[in-house]
Amino acid sequence: MRIVLLGAPGAGKGTQAKKLIEKYNIPQISTGDILRKAVADGTPLGKEAKVIMDKGDLVTDEIVIGLVKERLAQDDCKNGYILDGFPRTTPQAEELDNVLTTMGSPLDVALSVDVAMSELMQRLTGRRTCAGCQQMYNVHFSAPAKEGVCDKCGGELQQRDDDKEATIKNRLDIYEKSTAPLIDYYGNKGILKSVAGVGSIDDIFNNICSVLGS
Ligand code: AMP
Repeated sequence: MRIVLLGAPGAGKGTQAKKLIEKYNIPQISTGDILRKAVADGTPLGKEAKVIMDKGDLVTDEIVIGLVKERLAQDDCKNGYILDGFPRTTPQAEELDNVLTTMGSPLDVALSVDVAMSELMQRLTGRRTCAGCQQMYNVHFSAPAKEGVCDKCGGELQQRDDDKEATIKNRLDIYEKSTAPLIDYYGNKGILKSVAGVGSIDDIFNNICSVLGS
């Protein structure tokens, strides 16, 4: 199954992708995670990307397309994958289509996780991730038992640099302007499926499984 996950920052794409990779035994390709790793490793790409990411702006199409092409060519993508956070612009979507047509393996589905803009701000400002095991929390909705400490492994909970309020506003504006048009892009291609991204994580996942027909 070759899936593109669409949805605004904070819609829960990453959380649902983690459940989908277990169910389908395919990798999650998150351009945000690849870029954050480059930042943590201090590579030249990471240094360039950090400035852009901290402002909540988009890294250039050229850079992310290059990263995704390289990742799609790896062996573990043969049986499918979940693209999370890519494409984010129409040129990225068009280039992805070109690459996949050349590979003879077009996308099966673009899955949109829909959440009202009014809810996204609270979700993003409250988001915390464990530095140890990557478990996610939300101080408004699913706080850990002890503030700042992971329930699972005792690791330190961290806030992403780009989850600060001013940056979030910019990321949501950019989503509306550059990424939301992809819903029509994939709708016109006849491969769009949508689920409401509200309710419990398991309820949303069950809805995703039913729209995927599995
Ligand atoms: P994410 O974890 O998907 O929210 O991505 C975090 C940040 O990485 C974004 O705010 C962008 O700065 C950058 N980024 C991730 N994916 C892309 C993409 N497909 N195109 C451009 N920038 C991206």
